[in-house]
Amino acid sequence: MQCAQKWEFVENNFSKKYIKMSSFPIEKIRADFPILKQKVNGKQLVYFDNGATTQKPDIVISTIADFYRTTNSNVHRGVHYFSNKSTELYEEARETVRKFINARTSKEIIFTKGTTEGLNLIASSFGQNLKSGDEIILTEMEHHSNIVPWHFLRQTKGVVLKFVPISDDYQLDFEAYKKLFSEKTKLVSMLYVSNSLGTINPIEKYIDYAHSKGIPIVIDAAQSIQHIKTDVQKLDIDFLAFSGHKMYAETGIGVVYGKQELLEKLPPYQGGGDMIEDVWVDKVTYAELPLKFEAGTANYAGAISLKAAIDYIQQIGLENISEYEKMLTNYAIEKLSEIDGIKVYATSESNKTSAISFNVEGLHHYDVGTLLDQMGVAVRTGGHCTHPLMKKLNITGTVRSSLSFYNTIEEIDYFVEALKKVIKILK
Ligand code: PMP
Repeated sequence: MQCAQKWEFVENNFSKKYIKMSSFPIEKIRADFPILKQKVNGKQLVYFDNGATTQKPDIVISTIADFYRTTNSNVHRGVHYFSNKSTELYEEARETVRKFINARTSKEIIFTKGTTEGLNLIASSFGQNLKSGDEIILTEMEHHSNIVPWHFLRQTKGVVLKFVPISDDYQLDFEAYKKLFSEKTKLVSMLYVSNSLGTINPIEKYIDYAHSKGIPIVIDAAQSIQHIKTDVQKLDIDFLAFSGHKMYAETGIGVVYGKQELLEKLPPYQGGGDMIEDVWVDKVTYAELPLKFEAGTANYAGAISLKAAIDYIQQIGLENISEYEKMLTNYAIEKLSEIDGIKVYATSESNKTSAISFNVEGLHHYDVGTLLDQMGVAVRTGGHCTHPLMKKLNITGTVRSSLSFYNTIEEIDYFVEALKKVIKILK
């Protein structure tokens, strides 16, 4: 797919300020996603729930189907042709991920079933060497999957959890972060992009500061990897976790990246086939990286789908994707802000991805989402698995529309008009 590097801009009918990127091949892209043609409640689907999961392009769907039709066999197991072929494809997928995030070696790429499993892996393995009173720094913005695994360590080991507060402008408070470090700090774990607010955290300075104290840092990249080019070496990230299904691959596949020297030191997370070197009745030795962390039959078809998804994203170009999504996001925020009684959270133009959270005064987010669905618009409602953040904001939840590069200005216009009708009905 050819995308011009330099955009040509044409004026949009609705607002002179907003421009449509005529060179972004939106029609072609939309044609790649068969589900977008679906109707919901008799209305054309407008899918704005990409933060929960993205839709899959034909190339990902057909890669999975072709693999099962022609090649399927368990990996790292047999000497036969298909087992070797499956293993080759699985390891090719690992290499594609390695290049995508610029890890040094594919030993640093561990396949998991998603971000949640990845963060549990890191917490569980890292946690084995922790003792009572040791401290972990998290943030108030975290998804539950980057809080609960650390609570397990609080409960079982007496580890102390400290949280970076968010300030009134929905940003993390960096000065407060610095003050949380003590002699007992052992690890920082934080998200790159907030799933609830879309805020992009300036992780560079959080990483640098943690390293200046000799402390490693885990980055939850579930909501960033599909929007922002991530170079783990340049950013000097120690551990990173993300999910395939939020970046156009199938469900049940994810990645943990870890610096080799750190992963070597960690004990395995789960025990079983493939992760051992040898087993006796009285002892066990473990396989080399990355297999030490991949117990049991891997989701190799998922990994192969992830390769197809990464290849697809890279054909369009992550920079082109994020530029187009930024234009959509700014347009949507401006249109939403024009509606009376609406509160849009975290509207920064400079450090935000395409998740837009809002509430309508006097209306429950759940009711708004339910009626939007009647009009064909899929949004997420609720606390977005970020209850500490919701408590901090003193709300029970929001309506969240999260956009992808296959969404359009016209869909945003339809959504805004639908929302106005919903407000009229409910008020
Ligand atoms: N972290 C963040 C920031 C997320 O948005 C999500 C998913 N909503 C997760 C972690 C968990 O991802 P998964 O459900 O794919 O394991």
